[in-house]
Amino acid sequence: MHIHKPYAPLEALELDLFTQKNIQVSLKREDYSHPFISGNKWRKLKYHLLQAEQENKKLLVTFGGTYSNHLLATAAAAAKYNFKSFGFVRGEEVENHVLKLCQLFGMQIQFVDRTAYQQKEILFQRYFSSDPTAFFIPEGGSGNLGEMGVSEIMQESDMQNFDVLFASVGTGGTLKGLIKGIQDNNLSTKAHGIVVLKGAENMLQEYAHFKQDSFQLHFQFHGGGYAKYTTELQQFQHKFASQTGILLDLVYEAKLIWALIKLVESDYFLPGTNICALHNGGNIGILSS
Ligand SMILES: *Cc1c(COP(=O)(O)O)cnc(C)c1O
Repeated sequence: MHIHKPYAPLEALELDLFTQKNIQVSLKREDYSHPFISGNKWRKLKYHLLQAEQENKKLLVTFGGTYSNHLLATAAAAAKYNFKSFGFVRGEEVENHVLKLCQLFGMQIQFVDRTAYQQKEILFQRYFSSDPTAFFIPEGGSGNLGEMGVSEIMQESDMQNFDVLFASVGTGGTLKGLIKGIQDNNLSTKAHGIVVLKGAENMLQEYAHFKQDSFQLHFQFHGGGYAKYTTELQQFQHKFASQTGILLDLVYEAKLIWALIKLVESDYFLPGTNICALHNGGNIGILSS
């Protein structure tokens, strides 16, 4: 199986604020990689797919909420690379366009209540202990294999000279992969994570093995919590889309760019700083907000 390299070019993001403050910002358009296997989800799936193939697995089993970008990415990737797919979906049965697309790509959907959903290994055992072809993919495609795929971004020739990286943080698999990539390639770039969950400060423990000066988590931009947003953020999303032609979903990427603007406004970065922000897709979820 050959998994081709995602198309994710850099584009300059030219806002008056950035010019005034002498800050260069590039957007890494991971969202261009595929309409449904988009952004970091493609990166995070790569080594799961290769591992599944190596172990002769035929069925990809994974987990997500009702609007999960990861479920949709897994369904589309499974179809593209000749696997079957099965998704455990958190909560009571609903219909929406994301799950409909998952099903179009052949994914079998199983709704499970929130308590059962927390015990993913147990769910997997309960449904698939007698199916040796089933392959477990963690929620969000995160974990070691996911981080390995993301870390490859930092090998790309146009990613070698940034002072700062910017990425939104849900599970954190993406940010950890970026930090790993920075360290593996001996770069002096610092990765900044904008955490979209509320009260998630505990996650810092998961970063203890990284060098202190290679990353920074920001906890003040969650805007009320996961998938919550203020009217201000919604207005920003609208203004940004109409002025740049770039869509930002309210769960992740609007919070990311909003945070970047707020930090630049408050002179958080020295003049001359060269920043790369990753646009990790999620555009399909916009239709639900
Ligand atoms: C999944 C996702 C994220 C969060 O990635 P994590 O690795 O879970 O931190 C950010 N942006 C978009 C658009 C996503 O779909």
